[in-house]
Amino acid sequence: MKFNTIPLAISAIQLGQQVVLFDDESPDAKVHLIMAAEKITPSTLSLFTSVGHNTLHVILEATRMIDLGFQASFDDQHYRVINSSSVEAKTAKESRHDGRLVTIQKLADYNSTLADFNQPGHLFITQSAFGGVLKRAGAVEASVDLARLANLHPVGLISEIADADGKRMTHAEVEAWAQSKRLNVITIADLIAHRRQRESTIKRASSAKLPTRYGEFTIYGYENTLTKEHHVALAMGDVSNGEPVLIRVHSECLTGDALGSLRCDCGQQYDAAMKRIAQEGRGLLVYMRQEGRGIGLINKIKAYHLQDQGLDTVEANLALGLAADMRDYGIGAQILADLNVKKLRLMTNNPRKLVGLSGYGIDIVERIPIQLNHNEANELYLKTKQAKLSHLLRFEE
Ligand SMILES: [Zn+2]
Repeated sequence: MKFNTIPLAISAIQLGQQVVLFDDESPDAKVHLIMAAEKITPSTLSLFTSVGHNTLHVILEATRMIDLGFQASFDDQHYRVINSSSVEAKTAKESRHDGRLVTIQKLADYNSTLADFNQPGHLFITQSAFGGVLKRAGAVEASVDLARLANLHPVGLISEIADADGKRMTHAEVEAWAQSKRLNVITIADLIAHRRQRESTIKRASSAKLPTRYGEFTIYGYENTLTKEHHVALAMGDVSNGEPVLIRVHSECLTGDALGSLRCDCGQQYDAAMKRIAQEGRGLLVYMRQEGRGIGLINKIKAYHLQDQGLDTVEANLALGLAADMRDYGIGAQILADLNVKKLRLMTNNPRKLVGLSGYGIDIVERIPIQLNHNEANELYLKTKQAKLSHLLRFEE
């Protein structure tokens, strides 16, 4: 399967064309037809109706739902749309076209008000997650994001693509169909990567002096504007002057960093990194609050429980249904950009971390391994990291 680029898809959306969107590249991935609602025409509506059967939805952002006085019902805890409602433009019946066309045009028209609609109606509306695909990786969010990226009103149209009998098509069938209609084909993952590389999702909230047992640092507080998570960076000396900076990107580990746990070597790594920065008198420690490699504190304790019964770290996470490593370095890269840090002397034993950061225009001029002594309690953890997460050295973060 050959996918088109996101810039091509954005141009197509701007011209009022449809785009074929794959949830991912797996064989059972859902495939949707999407476009910007304000570009709807009778012929594009009939295309949506023919491939989508009765799955056509108009997608609105929460703010637009509220402005129109529609009931906004989004379960923010679970990033899930919990229901959708149906509407109809009051002028739909008088139209000589498909009444849905008028309703779609009214929904995309920012001059319309609640008084222009009847509820329920013949067209379903669904609310997209605040933050779009960066918050929830779904077709609903992708349709709104693409409209916005094309400088159109962020109101999307989506239909799940099916064959004449309403059955899901194979990817090969979808590809052939898209080719016959000369439509761009993209994945949600590519859209997420496109936005991540171009948009900032962090905000520097404050900074202050922070005397530590290692020496005098400046602490910078950052907020992830999408998830509201907080991260910090500890700087010693001038890190923004363009010279390569000694850096450690440390992932939060409450048990190891603060509680003295010997189940891992996170606390030792933090200690070694801070000492090294203090020794050189200049450097930066970015502290990513993503406990337990992004799985959360309680899940980490559950994983420890499974390890007590004999599973290793990776097996334990997989048993909990969690990816082996969910850390996201995009946020760390944005923090470095905010501090004008472009050249890194990165303290790491993790080859993936190098790959993750280099995708953001950040140059790693040196990799400095952190060598630590191991103890009996964390020996299995370290061996697992070495074997299953392809780390470079024997003693790992
Ligand atoms: Zn740890």
